[in-house]
Amino acid sequence: MERLLFKILIVDDTPQNIDVLHQMLTHRNYSVAGVPSGKVALEIASEFKPDLILLDVMMPEMDGFETCRKLKSDPETADIPVIFVTAKDDPQDIAEGFRCGGVDYIIKPAKEEEVWARVGHQIKLRQLIENKNLLISMLKHMEQRNREIITRASDPMLIVNNQGQIESTNPAATHLLGYAESELVDKPFDVILKPEDIGLYRSCFHSKTVSEANDQPLTRIGAKELYVVRNDGVSVPVDLSISQVGYEAPLFLCLIHDLTLHKNLISELKQLSLIDKLTNLANRRRFDEYIQLEWGRCIRAQHSICALFIDIDFFKLYNDTYGHPKGDSCLQAVAKVLTDFISRPSDLIARYGGEEFIAILPETSFQGAVDLAEKIRHKVESLLIEHKASRVNKSVTVSIGVGCCTPQANDSYQVLVRKTDELLYKAKENGRNRTEAAEIKI
Ligand code: GH3
Ligand code: MG
Ligand code: MG
Repeated sequence: MERLLFKILIVDDTPQNIDVLHQMLTHRNYSVAGVPSGKVALEIASEFKPDLILLDVMMPEMDGFETCRKLKSDPETADIPVIFVTAKDDPQDIAEGFRCGGVDYIIKPAKEEEVWARVGHQIKLRQLIENKNLLISMLKHMEQRNREIITRASDPMLIVNNQGQIESTNPAATHLLGYAESELVDKPFDVILKPEDIGLYRSCFHSKTVSEANDQPLTRIGAKELYVVRNDGVSVPVDLSISQVGYEAPLFLCLIHDLTLHKNLISELKQLSLIDKLTNLANRRRFDEYIQLEWGRCIRAQHSICALFIDIDFFKLYNDTYGHPKGDSCLQAVAKVLTDFISRPSDLIARYGGEEFIAILPETSFQGAVDLAEKIRHKVESLLIEHKASRVNKSVTVSIGVGCCTPQANDSYQVLVRKTDELLYKAKENGRNRTEAAEIKI
């Protein structure tokens, strides 16, 4: 960043004085120009942009002090350093020179070494200031670019200081959290956390400064799944990762990844994986999950629990007679009867296999379950779905097994399921289109 050529403007009403200084300076690789008055100097200074002005004091019309004041009052020329070169050696004059904005003072007749030294010094300062300004503008540019990266990022980001206070946010964060940036800035990061997560993040932000941290790695909390709390109190599932930036007065970049869509998708998929596509009833998997929960609950509360196994009679023959698609419609019709009749919130009906359904009825009495089974059986019969091949009826019928028990600790629900299945088998054996029921001892 070293500049090769610096421009010097000499202002003096005596041409010989300009020549003397000119000769001293040109072979130093300065580009030197001379003008005969303050007025001309002011006219060309903003255009010529000298790096230094050597200014005579005693000149007709406008003296050096006046010229200097005018240079300093114009923003275009105010930064150009001015050295007075004058025969006036009175301390009052020297002081006046500095007061009106001069940076140095050379008493005529000027001696070469002194001129070189004082001019060289000012030029060096000029170079330093120039470098400093260049660095500042590069820093500003980098800062602006970093700011832009954060602003444009589609993931929410917050910058938190080592007091745990939010320093800035990006639009994605204010959008997700429902705050204006001004409502978050200077607030503790805690405001977006649930109480149970506050401790962990507080200790992370209030981490060591450089002197305490000798060789310690920068704090980093990799993506952690938690809930952030929006301005309206709604909790949003997110991945939150925190990276410390720098040791001294460290900052923390908090990157939030909204998991709402992802979670919804998972729960939709989970839901789908628990549902039978043909009948929209729960599937076997869901049944297994559910009965375990309810079984435990009935053990604790000492409630009875009933199971119903429902199976379409001669359904293979139905399929053979009417074809598989009609068979599917028949399964849907029976499933509809089951959902119409079995409707308590804690009841669950599932498609257990092919044309076999199971219902689980917690907190239901034996007699209640038997009555319900009979209603279902009659309802299916009354649908009058033609079934020419059936050997028990002209239309579709079902056989039902009903098992009921009050489970005790360590009892297995599988016993209830198996024994109820045996009751269904008995209903088939005893002629179909009937219900067989029993209170079961596990
Ligand atoms: P039972 O009275 O003893 O129950 O005789 P069944 O013919 O109903 O019993 P079996 O177990 O012999 O036959 C069940 C039939 O159910 C065989 C199979 O083709 C049919 N099935 C199973 N799942 C489906 C399905 O999703 N759609 C259709 N259309 N038929 C199915
Ligand atoms: Mg003069
Ligand atoms: Mg059957």
